[in-house]
Amino acid sequence: MSLIDHLLERIAQDGPMTVADYMTECLLHPTYGYYTTRDPLGVQGDFVTAPEISQMFGELIGLSLAQSWMDQGHPDHFVLAELGPGRGTLMADILRATRGVHGFHDAAEIVLFEASPTLRDIQAETLKDFAPRWITKLTDLPDAPLFLVANEFFDALPIRQFLRDGLAWRERLIGAEGESLTFGLGAQADQVALTDRLQDTKDGDLVELCAAAIPILTVIAARIASHGGAGLIVDYGDWHSLGDTFQALRGHERVNPLDTPGQADLTAHVDFEPLALAARAAGCAHSRLTPQGAFLERLGITARAQALAKPLGGSELDTLVAAHRRLTHPEEMGNLFKVLGLCPSYAAPPPGLEP
Ligand code: SAH
Repeated sequence: MSLIDHLLERIAQDGPMTVADYMTECLLHPTYGYYTTRDPLGVQGDFVTAPEISQMFGELIGLSLAQSWMDQGHPDHFVLAELGPGRGTLMADILRATRGVHGFHDAAEIVLFEASPTLRDIQAETLKDFAPRWITKLTDLPDAPLFLVANEFFDALPIRQFLRDGLAWRERLIGAEGESLTFGLGAQADQVALTDRLQDTKDGDLVELCAAAIPILTVIAARIASHGGAGLIVDYGDWHSLGDTFQALRGHERVNPLDTPGQADLTAHVDFEPLALAARAAGCAHSRLTPQGAFLERLGITARAQALAKPLGGSELDTLVAAHRRLTHPEEMGNLFKVLGLCPSYAAPPPGLEP
């Protein structure tokens, strides 16, 4: 049995499946899932994330969160949490950069939300000096101030896709033709969740919905609203998307998302508007949506790069210069990636962001 056999069997039994169900099966199937079975990050893997490009990313995030913690009266017990920590690199950089922040480490309880057993093992190794705790339900977050980061986590959550047909919608579904998977369309139906999108779309346009993001964001926002704290959500996407952003990456190349189920990373652009609305509904404030390049520049990435560059020469220096450019330049990750900050309504958003 392989994942494709399992998917064909499921389609034969239950009919075509939603893109969301397909993503969940491909990414998180307990035996064949992409994240469940491997470490997908880095040059040897399928994609590279900001913390894997340079330590500067995590250092600046750490200092932004630590400044928020100080601005909110440095509570003597708080949760330092990460969603989808990958290899644990970002959290390790946050912890190294905040070593000198008086009282921060002693007050922090480190909590990681991770679905993949393979990546949990790698995180345990990377963070072995810090005794992190893993949770599988966000409602298990302790009742305490919450300082949280999520980088390239929301883009891995399952989305559904809908094609506009008059004043109704047809869902994009995945069915089978022989031994291959194919896209098709479901029957025309009203979609209450898409009522607003009737205003900015026309016949034939495709929109995406990520229902799974809302309960996650709601729990985080409610904790920050009631106990204090801050959140930094970093991902590629925009206020809301229009068109098909469902994509697969394998060996750093774009591939057809239906061709190699369970062997490629599947993502979709993150729509930040529904996240911001969910934050507000939970009584939490949020920052302006800010391009990653502007956020990192405001936090002093250029000065940090210059300091790191001092002892370097040759190819090490070239690598550092390239990393700075890749994280910040508008033609690289600088504009495509955005940052949304969360904070209690009485506090300022984390440094690097504006209310
Ligand atoms: N934040 C890391 C890794 C990003 S990859 C970095 O920037 O390098 C996405 C991460 O989210 C992986 O750790 C993956 O296993 C995790 N993940 C994906 N879907 C998840 C889910 N539904 N619940 C918990 N973790 C999930």
